[in-house]
Amino acid sequence: MSFNVKILGCGSALPTLNRNATSQVVSHNGQIYLVDCAEATQVVMRRNSVRIGGLNHIFISHLHGDHFFGLFGLLSTLDLMGRKGDLYLHCPARLQQMLESKYSPVLVNELGYTIHYEPLSPDGLSLTLETKHLMVYSFPLNHRIPCWGFVFREKPAQYNIIKECIPRYNISIAEIVAIKNGSDLRLEDGTVIPNSQLTIPPPKPKSYAFVSDTTKLDSVVEIVKDVDVLYHEATYDNSYANRAIETFHCTAGQAAEVARDAGVEKLVIGHYSGRYDSVELLERQAREIFPNTFAAEDGMEFEV
Ligand SMILES: [Zn+2]
Ligand SMILES: [Zn+2]
Repeated sequence: MSFNVKILGCGSALPTLNRNATSQVVSHNGQIYLVDCAEATQVVMRRNSVRIGGLNHIFISHLHGDHFFGLFGLLSTLDLMGRKGDLYLHCPARLQQMLESKYSPVLVNELGYTIHYEPLSPDGLSLTLETKHLMVYSFPLNHRIPCWGFVFREKPAQYNIIKECIPRYNISIAEIVAIKNGSDLRLEDGTVIPNSQLTIPPPKPKSYAFVSDTTKLDSVVEIVKDVDVLYHEATYDNSYANRAIETFHCTAGQAAEVARDAGVEKLVIGHYSGRYDSVELLERQAREIFPNTFAAEDGMEFEV
């Protein structure tokens, strides 16, 4: 099953010519999920050939402008495009109040489609979306205002039955279903064929975690344990450790420590301060602690 992430923006609060602020598209098995929606995200989506009309779920980590100012324009554009299908916003509860207030820049009650709000829970790891193939959880971070991360976990796929076994043992449809769910096969003469001789195990489920603005947290290490790809904010290089604490952000080294301690497969860093034209230094500092680190750039796509 395809599972990848496209970086639409990996800058932080101050816009630069090279980087849009935070936004990314997670694609899984043909479905797309927007994670954060900075100013101009809809333009960047078009530039990157992302099917705006295919969006059904948007995840907003927190209500700092560099993570959601683009939402108003996007909601309006979806209406102009004639959208009728429901849209789900997984977001801080306060965003619903903002959108439904009389001062909202987009009149949500006049849109041609319905918005469903899924307020993010302040109480630890919480399921916010379940689809046929995917579970998406939110988890609280530690930032200047309430902020959340998200982890996308594939559900374990069913076992695949070895085709030649079906005629060999005359397996019925009901038995095929049971075997795919892990059962052994009992033949008429009482012989038991173990499931391992009838099936090929499915690939290991993959997972992706997005850690938005935060100080370094031990709770995050537990939640993102063993994920295949971790995107973690790294606003500053290590020499700005004090500034990172003051502003509730992380350094590149801290992001790498989380990746190392959680035993993830791959780390992608982003959310860089506007002071960096090149982020080679941040990537180098992170690699000293966690070698399989890559510095995100806008337009970059990686497989989970
Ligand atoms: Zn930010
Ligand atoms: Zn922030």
